[in-house]
Amino acid sequence: MLLLIPGPVQTDPRVRAAMAVDIAPWDLDFRAEYAALREKITAIAGGIPGEHVTLPLQGSGHFIVEAAIRTFIPEGGRFVLPMNGTYADRMFRLATEAGRVPVPIALPDTRPVTAEELDAALAAAPDATHLCAVISETGTGILNDPEVLGAAARRAGRRLILDAVSAFGAWPFRLADHPEVDAITFTSNKCLEGMPGFAFAVCPTERTRARLGKANSWSFDLADVLVSGERAPGSSRFTPAVQVLHSFGNAIELYEAEGGQPARLARYQENMRILRAGMEALGIRPYLAPENQGPVIGIFHQPGGNFALQPFVDALKRRGVLISNFFNTKEPTFRVGTIGAVTPDDMRRAVAAIGEALRELDALPKAA
Ligand SMILES: *Cc1c(COP(=O)(O)O)cnc(C)c1O
Repeated sequence: MLLLIPGPVQTDPRVRAAMAVDIAPWDLDFRAEYAALREKITAIAGGIPGEHVTLPLQGSGHFIVEAAIRTFIPEGGRFVLPMNGTYADRMFRLATEAGRVPVPIALPDTRPVTAEELDAALAAAPDATHLCAVISETGTGILNDPEVLGAAARRAGRRLILDAVSAFGAWPFRLADHPEVDAITFTSNKCLEGMPGFAFAVCPTERTRARLGKANSWSFDLADVLVSGERAPGSSRFTPAVQVLHSFGNAIELYEAEGGQPARLARYQENMRILRAGMEALGIRPYLAPENQGPVIGIFHQPGGNFALQPFVDALKRRGVLISNFFNTKEPTFRVGTIGAVTPDDMRRAVAAIGEALRELDALPKAA
């Protein structure tokens, strides 16, 4: 089956196979492997060795976003949050439930936030210590440029927390160029194409240490992850998803062999180009204008007529392609992921299967 969903993504068979081992996390061989993996991740984030540190946390993307917010934003503290998609909505909720106060910038879900909108919102909330934002908004596929976000935070003298869960590894970003960042967060899955189960924040070491005990949560305290890791290098506080970490090492090797971030972005962009061109040839309208289309997911208007989402998903699945059976735009759409261990040839096969599935349902737009 070819998974065309933006997480958990299609993985390479070598990454899946690496899971099939028993490992003791405190074993000295594994400790060394784990320490080396964290250093590699700091390097991929463009961090400065000794100044930035990779802080791993068991769980999914929401866990690490919540941990970053709890660790760096004081309880009851305010932060500015551009709202242009599902993951901003989710950040709003998890921050609110953690007793932090988002100050939303209301936006449509079809375009990125602008520098002017960020400047105005930050100026109107002088007590907000942070700007928090989603880079790649996986609800619709738009991309809030981390350079625009970073520059706005620096101009306003605020700190920045980034949800880079569906961007990290594919979208260019160098922590060394972003002294305003408290945390960039992501997972083992999505653009790094590992198994799901682990999440990471890359953070400035000393700023993180200064926040020890401020998270109102032991599990989500990134400063506690830092200091306990320093006490016993390579160790974990709680039982880690150790096979996920081990196989993540293979995923990172494949990432480096492919050519790292530029190569991964190029493959995803080519997947997206093939997808959008294929859908337009079938008469299916994309949800986003081409200039607002990020590389991770394509959203398309449902064609109407005989189209219904679940029968369409079923017809595609019979042809070996699996897409989401839900959408989270206001208008009815369907979603096709372009990330994971998916090649341009896979994408061409998927476009052909989508055409056949629409024909089977007699749901091809009349023009096609
Ligand atoms: C996938 C994703 C998350 C985290 O989702 P989980 O299901 O918790 O892994 C967070 N933000 C974005 C932008 C995502 O794409």
